[in-house]
Amino acid sequence: MQAPMPGPQPAPYRRPAAWRRRTRDGAGAGTVGTVAGQGLREHLRLGRKGLAIGVDIGGTKVAAGVVDAEGRILSQAKRSTPGSAPRAVEQVIVELVEELGRGHRIWSVGIGAAGWMDLDGGTVLFSPHLAWRNEPLRDNLQRLLRRPVLLTNDADAAGWAEWRFGAGRGEDRLVCITLGTGIGGAMVMDGRLERGRFGVAGEFGHQIILPGGHRCECGNRGCWEQYASGNALGREARELAAANSPVAQELLKVVGGQVDSITGVIVTELAEAGDPTSRELLEDVGEWLGLGLANLAAALDPGTFVIGGGLCDAGELLVAPARKAFARNLTGRGFRPAARIELAALGPNAGLIGAADLSRVSSRMHS
Ligand SMILES: [Zn+2]
Repeated sequence: MQAPMPGPQPAPYRRPAAWRRRTRDGAGAGTVGTVAGQGLREHLRLGRKGLAIGVDIGGTKVAAGVVDAEGRILSQAKRSTPGSAPRAVEQVIVELVEELGRGHRIWSVGIGAAGWMDLDGGTVLFSPHLAWRNEPLRDNLQRLLRRPVLLTNDADAAGWAEWRFGAGRGEDRLVCITLGTGIGGAMVMDGRLERGRFGVAGEFGHQIILPGGHRCECGNRGCWEQYASGNALGREARELAAANSPVAQELLKVVGGQVDSITGVIVTELAEAGDPTSRELLEDVGEWLGLGLANLAAALDPGTFVIGGGLCDAGELLVAPARKAFARNLTGRGFRPAARIELAALGPNAGLIGAADLSRVSSRMHS
């Protein structure tokens, strides 16, 4: 294919005008896919054609897929994350894109990773699992891949995918929560990904929900993700089992008495199989989830919350108690409409679908 070459003149991937303006004068909120004066979804129409590759960089694996304009994955590939060195991770991305690009006409590449990207999507400011600190990853990759590249936070990518193709479709005010080892957050408002003034919005997992509570790796105590994540579920179950409570018998049996082997996944499986204690543990996590969502509703007033991430395998066992706690704690309850709380529809591929789609939408908009 005739791949567009990156470079200053002419640039295949240019930042949306709104980003450039805001970066220069230092004012206004950062959004993805924003063009002043256009209709809310005009930028999506412009980005309708072509295939893109989405790459989801996790702490243990790098997953990539060729994604079409309807969010369908045409082919997929995976590698182990090769340690945290930036060059090694770049190399794996290049290999995956080359492998998947054979036989497809690829327009652009979107990269989703845990961490913070600067507002213009060029630099990884910080990534918790990788050694990226102020890393100009986009330019490096555009040089290597000879295609437009977009960097995005993994939770933003998943939220975007759920809004475009999943459980948040048609919602003008969407908040997406990803429950895994921690809690990721994304906001899609009026067809745009809201990223805050500095590009680091959506860290809902670090709202302090219990002052003086469990220590969080962010440095604070009592963060929401210490109570409403997959890790929290595992920790609570281990604590219960370590107390040698008779109600923890099933849990201990499954891990052969090895308390440290109990994880959130095991608790979820046992809950699905009907173990009452595991169901209680999930119910507790669901209640914390609902409480945090009520706080977010007070601040953001979305129409829908979409709940995704690995912990969502628990389905209604998690979401039913969350809905109850949400309704119980919502500010002004009874005098206001309440947001819907829905399970995500796209599963673990949401991140790579969203990264691919964002890269297509953004790169075509000004090309
Ligand atoms: Zn925290």
